[in-house]
Order: sequence, then structure tokens, then C-alpha cells
Amino acid sequence: MKRISFFLSLSLILSLSFTACQQGGESAGENATADMEQSTEETTERPAYAIVIHGGAGTIRKENMSDEMEADYRNALNQALNIGEKILKEGGAAADAVEQTIMYLEDSPLFNAGKGAVFTHDGKNELDAAFMDGATLNAGTVAGITNIKNPIRAARAVMEKSEHVMLIGPGAEQFSEEQGLETVDPKYFFTERRWEALQRILSSEKEEIGYVDNTADHKFGTVGCVALDQTGNIVAGTSTGGMTNKKYGRVGDVPIIGSGTYAKNNTCGVSATGHGEFFIRYTVAHDISAIMEYAGKSLQEASDEVVMNKLVKAEGSGGIIAIDKDGNVSMTFNSEGMYRGYAKPGERVVGIYKNE
Ligand code: ASP
Repeated sequence: MKRISFFLSLSLILSLSFTACQQGGESAGENATADMEQSTEETTERPAYAIVIHGGAGTIRKENMSDEMEADYRNALNQALNIGEKILKEGGAAADAVEQTIMYLEDSPLFNAGKGAVFTHDGKNELDAAFMDGATLNAGTVAGITNIKNPIRAARAVMEKSEHVMLIGPGAEQFSEEQGLETVDPKYFFTERRWEALQRILSSEKEEIGYVDNTADHKFGTVGCVALDQTGNIVAGTSTGGMTNKKYGRVGDVPIIGSGTYAKNNTCGVSATGHGEFFIRYTVAHDISAIMEYAGKSLQEASDEVVMNKLVKAEGSGGIIAIDKDGNVSMTFNSEGMYRGYAKPGERVVGIYKNE
């Protein structure tokens, strides 16, 4: 009897101190990152739906932004959320919400995707996109395409209409055309603002340096969306022009499943934005899902571990948006800012800078 009560009190002491450690660890983590992340209060009561978007992360500072430009960005983020939220509210599929929301962002010249895509070193626009379904783990991606108006539609078509996951260049374009997707003259992707950004970088470039990361032009601007629909399905999508001045057919993290894009219904959906080479090496999107699955961490803890710890140590700049199976949202970034927003029933947040 004595023995039993000794073990009972020992296990009580152990479990109390374990909980205290956990709580201590959590609050220390929160303090370290409080100004750079936005998340909803953790819950296990799933809302009817949830949607989160980003329009890129990078050197986004209020002092470099005109009031008009800021209003344009906030308006575009709200419009994009309206599109996806309407679909989800009416009981539509997460896949449709993600596709339609991203198409709106691709059609806007404000973002580095579709119409606003950045230029390669050779003065072209080469677009990457990814789409992933958390229920089936089916995924479709395209890389280096030049004439498909909405690359996110091409990625979804690869997922739904082909036996492959990733198509690149002319093959991806041929497949997209065969699927009846709208094509455009590559000149459609020309915007003065992105062209000037390339010229500025070219005139300052030292030949041995692949990327110049010190100008406001170099903000990333990729777009992404994750949605949780009323059936509990999570879908993630991402679309980008890549990075200004990219060379030699460079492909970033966006169409690499598990790096810039990932979705799995029993953990979370993630879409990333930032310096793609780091997001590939650190398999950012899948790592967040794996930390939740194998270490039992919450979405915010997993996002912090990857974005605010691993990536910061590696000097990999950028951020992620994510939704977990219970509808918790994470918008976590280690850069100056990230265009972002989320909506759930009765709740809407749109942000640009850190500390807001
Ligand atoms: N991650 C993208 C890339 O490296 C860039 C971005 O997020 O804007 O291609």
C-alpha cells in the first residue's frame, strides 16, 4: 500500500513539473515572437470554416509605403478574403475557395504572381504554382511557365487531371492548354514596376552574387491561400513569379510539395513565402505538419519552431500562413512584414506590418 501511494505521489509530482515546464516554455516562446505573429486563440472547437491568405513577405515598412498604396493592398486582401469566404460560407469546397481566391490575387498587379510577376535575369516572367488537397494528399504543381494566365488553375489541373504531381516549362504549358486553360501572350505579365525593379538590381549586381536582398524591390510578394471547408477538408495553394533576377531556370520552394505548400487533414495546411532556397532546404511546410504530428505540438508552436527558430538561425527570411484541423490560424513571419489576412465566421483580420 505504502509502495503504491509512493508511486502515485511520485507520478503526480512528475506530471505537475512537466506541465509547469511546458507552460514556462510556451510563455517564453510567446514573448520572443509576440510582435511577429498573429494567431487565433487555440481551440479544438472547429469553426464552420476558415480561410487565410498571404500576399508575400519581405522588407515591407510603413515609411516606404504611401497611404494610397497601403489602402490598395488592404483592399485587395479584403477582396480576396471576400471571394474565398463566400464560397466556404455557402458550403463550397476548400479547393474552389483556394483556387478562386488565388486567381484574384494573380490577376492583381500588386502581387508577385500572375499579372504582377517579377522578372528573371533574362527579362522574362517564369511562373510557379502548387495546389494540395489535405484529404487525399493529392497534389499538383507547375514550374517555369510563361503563358498561362492563372498558374494556380494549371496546378489544380495537374492534381485532378493528370497522373503526375509536377510538370515544368513547355510540357506544363501544353498540358494546361489541352485542359482548356486561358493562355496569354507572355507580354501580359509585363508591369513597369517589376521591370524597373529588375533594372535597379541589374545595375547594382556583382556578378558572383545570385540575389541582392537589400532593396525594397526585393520584397517577395508570392500569394497563397489555405482553406478549411465545412466538411473539414483542408486545401493549400501558392502561386509566384519567384525572385527578381533569378537565373538558369531557377525554381523556388512554391511548387516543391512540402517546402512552400503542404496540406494534410489530420494536421494542417500551409502556404509559405520568402527566400525559396531556405524553404526548400528546411522543407518548411511539411516540417510544420510533422512537428504537429510527431511531437504533438500546436500549430502555433510548430510554426514558431520552424519560422522563428530554425529559419531565423539559418537567416532564411519569410513567413507562412496555415490552418489546422480545428480551424486555428497561424500567420507567422520573421521578415519586416507580410501581406496577410484571415476570416472565420464573425472574425476578420488583415495586416501588413509586424506589430499590428
Ligand atoms: N518563395 C518564393 C520563391 O522563392 C518567393 C516569394 O515568396 O515571394 O520563389
